[in-house]
Amino acid sequence: MNPIRHYSLLVLVLICLIIGSNKDLSDSSRMFSGSKHYSQDSQINISLDEDGSNINQSKSSSPKPTGNPGATQTKEFLNLDYETIHGHLNGLKPGTILLTFDDGPSPVYTLQILQKLKAANMKATFFVIGQRVRENCNILRQVYNGGHEIANHSYRHPRLTTVSPEQQRNELLQTQAAIATCLGIDYKIRWFRAPYGDQNQDLLRIVNKLNLNSALWSVDTQDWHVETTAQDIANEVIRGGDRQIVLMHDGTEINPEMLLPHVSESRQETVDSLDIILPYLKEQEIETITLSEAFHNLIID
Ligand SMILES: [Zn+2]
Repeated sequence: MNPIRHYSLLVLVLICLIIGSNKDLSDSSRMFSGSKHYSQDSQINISLDEDGSNINQSKSSSPKPTGNPGATQTKEFLNLDYETIHGHLNGLKPGTILLTFDDGPSPVYTLQILQKLKAANMKATFFVIGQRVRENCNILRQVYNGGHEIANHSYRHPRLTTVSPEQQRNELLQTQAAIATCLGIDYKIRWFRAPYGDQNQDLLRIVNKLNLNSALWSVDTQDWHVETTAQDIANEVIRGGDRQIVLMHDGTEINPEMLLPHVSESRQETVDSLDIILPYLKEQEIETITLSEAFHNLIID
């Protein structure tokens, strides 16, 4: 074989080798892009019929963690209800916890809570009532300025399964508008929590259509009960340990129908409980994170 032809053949073989290795690379990156580095074994996926008439739930297996932080995630509507929440929370980084405060903003309690969180350098998620946002916008701004997450908790705090889908939708939309108007910036609200955890398929469909995710809780501190003390609230948090979504309240009951004798008209026990809870978390090196920090890999953005 003459040297020129020999050289040409060598170049051709090299080109083929390079193309082949690139193909392998692109295949492996496709594999990563379809995977989740979340550790729950299974999760409930919710999809809608094309006409939006039905929510379909299916249980699917998720791949084990890939350990690749660069892997992109499949975003979807996340529904953290009593059935699915523990599977999702088990996938969180150990040593993290989510503190959530509902029913504010309140001129009496929210600022005290913000002050304690700031002193401890901790973050929380505030599920706010639209009507209270209109009344206490300056307090909502301080929640935002504190770096906490703000989420939707309806406008009037009704039992949402007792009202029409149209009213459900209005409750959510009015609160979205109240938050946007108050903050006056393009703030992305990512989460909704149904008052009393009272939800049905109509409501979840609306939450999904508004590009919100739904989150209930895994630790109920019962801080709304007239007999619950600050120590009781702290005990529930301590018993729950890390990787929990803790339900507390920075606002009192706003729905007149629900103002029953055993419902406390104060949230001072909740405020005081933070003097036990926050030092405990610090001592245990448990880090507080917001809902979107916890689930940023999974949620629609
Ligand atoms: Zn509430």
